[in-house]
Amino acid sequence: MPQPTWAALLLESHNMEDASSTVAENLARIRERIEHAAQRAGRRAEEITLVGVSKTFRAERIREAFDAGVRHFGENRVQDFEAKLPLVQDLSAVWHFVGHPQRNKAARTLALFHTVDSVDNLPLAEKLDHAAGEGRRLPVLIEVRLDTAPKKSGCEPADLPRLAEGVLLMTHLELRGLMTVPPVSSDPEHARPMFRRLRELRDEMATLLDWPLSELSMGMSHDFEVAIEEGATQIRVGTALFGTRPDTH
Ligand SMILES: *Cc1c(COP(=O)(O)O)cnc(C)c1O
Repeated sequence: MPQPTWAALLLESHNMEDASSTVAENLARIRERIEHAAQRAGRRAEEITLVGVSKTFRAERIREAFDAGVRHFGENRVQDFEAKLPLVQDLSAVWHFVGHPQRNKAARTLALFHTVDSVDNLPLAEKLDHAAGEGRRLPVLIEVRLDTAPKKSGCEPADLPRLAEGVLLMTHLELRGLMTVPPVSSDPEHARPMFRRLRELRDEMATLLDWPLSELSMGMSHDFEVAIEEGATQIRVGTALFGTRPDTH
C-alpha cells in the first residue's frame, strides 16, 4: 500500500470537518446546552423547539440536520428557499419564514412556508391573510423590536396592541406568540433584559387580548441559553448548528 501524501491527509481532514457527522456533533452539543439551560430554569428541554436557521446553507446541510433529528428550519429569503425546496421537500419538516418578505411576495411566502415568525406590520399581515385564503390558517408570530438602535425590522412595543388585535381578527392568520432579534453582542447577558421584556409583553398581550400566546421565539447561537432561562419556547440557531455562514445575509 502506498503511503498517503501529506496533501491527501490534509484534504481528508478538511473533508472530515465538512462531513455529515459535523452537523450531528454540533446538534449534540446544542442539545446539551439546551438541557443545562432548561435545568437551571427549572424547565424541561422538551418545551423548547430548536429551529435550525439554514439561510445561506445548501440543501444538503438541511438534509444532514434532518437526518440528525432537526425538524424545524428557518429561512429568511423567499427566493433562496424556492431554489432549495425541490431538494428537501420530501422531508417532513416545518419550514419557518424568519425574514421580511416584500409584500408582493406574500403568495409565494405562503406557498413555501408553514409559519411566518416575523410579522411586524399590519399591511403585511393583511397581505398574508389574503394570500392564505380559504381553507388555510397560517400560524404567525409578531416580531417586536426591543432595542433602541435604528433597525428596520420589528414592531415598536407601543404599536404592539394594535397590530396584535388586528392579526387576531384576521380569519386566515393564527397568532401564536412573539419573536425578537436583539442587536448582535459578544456578551449574551446583553440580551437578557430584552428577552425578559418580550416575555412580559407576551403576558400583557395575552391578558389584553384574552388569547393564549404560547410561543416566544428568542435566542440565537450565542445567547440561546439566556433566552431559555427567560422563557423561550423556540430558539433559532444557525451558525452553532451549521457552521460559519458562507456569506452574510
Ligand atoms: C440568521 C438568523 C438567526 C440565526 O443566527 P445565528 O447567530 O447564526 O444562530 C436567527 N434568527 C434570525 C431572524 C436570523 O436571521
